[in-house]
Amino acid sequence: MTRLNARIPEGPVADKWTAYKSGCKLVNPNNKRKLDIIVVGTGLAGASAAASLGELGYNVKAFCYQDTPRRAHSIAAQGGINAAKNYANDGDSAYRLFYDTIKGGDYRAREANVYRLAEVSNQIIDLCVAQGVPFAREYGGLLTNRSFGGAQVSRTFFARGQTGQQLLLGAYGALSRQIAAGTVTLYNRRDMLDLVLVDGKARGIITRNLVTGEIERHAAHAVVLASGG
Ligand SMILES: Cc1cc2nc3c(=O)[nH]c(=O)nc-3n(C[C@H](O)[C@H](O)[C@H](O)COP(=O)(O)OP(=O)(O)OC[C@H]3O[C@@H](n4cnc5c(N)ncnc54)[C@H](O)[C@@H]3O)c2cc1C
Repeated sequence: MTRLNARIPEGPVADKWTAYKSGCKLVNPNNKRKLDIIVVGTGLAGASAAASLGELGYNVKAFCYQDTPRRAHSIAAQGGINAAKNYANDGDSAYRLFYDTIKGGDYRAREANVYRLAEVSNQIIDLCVAQGVPFAREYGGLLTNRSFGGAQVSRTFFARGQTGQQLLLGAYGALSRQIAAGTVTLYNRRDMLDLVLVDGKARGIITRNLVTGEIERHAAHAVVLASGG
């Protein structure tokens, strides 16, 4: 069995990704439009990644097997999305969110990546609000939180029992904006069959067109797999 090399940076868990991001090479803004990136999946992960990469100026090809990104499984999520805003002033922190998420995932998740998620969780909520996600609010208008999934603090942002659907509509809106701007091309009704590796690097995918049955190949400089859990 080949084990995935997640290429997690060295250092203390709280610094790994922050230090990596501060030191890694940047792409010149003028060169971004010369780089093609394939994103497989247009659920919350893929739609957000494709929209963000498109906004940055990369040339993105987004793939899903449904007829529309709005039908990704993310639409089924109900309870809410966690962030360490500490609005309830009940002692929350990025570390506590990290710890609870590792524990809630039966200690199987990659710790450095979960820490990064906890660290940027507050920005994710701000982004979703900017995208128009109608999170539940207090009477006075501020965002409200509830305790969810056995956590001892109230850190869950929610939109009734349809948080996933509302988040997905927000991400889909951002994706649609980039499709209209021409930075993202959407390939729906495509089933990815294989990943193309060149010198050990992912450089393309093979798909089946679910309408015509045709086998197609798509090349890129990088491939993001966001095809779900
Ligand atoms: C009922 C339910 C309730 C949940 N509640 C919560 C909750 O309250 N809070 C929470 O944080 N999480 C919750 N989750 C988990 C959370 O919803 C998911 O982890 C998350 O939405 C996954 O998003 P994703 O973008 O990774 O994948 P998905 O939304 O599953 O998207 C996968 C994408 O990949 C594409 N794809 C897959 N395979 C291929 C292929 N071979 N070729 C082409 N495209 C492909 C699909 O077309 C789709 O666009 C819940 C999940 C479920 C099912």
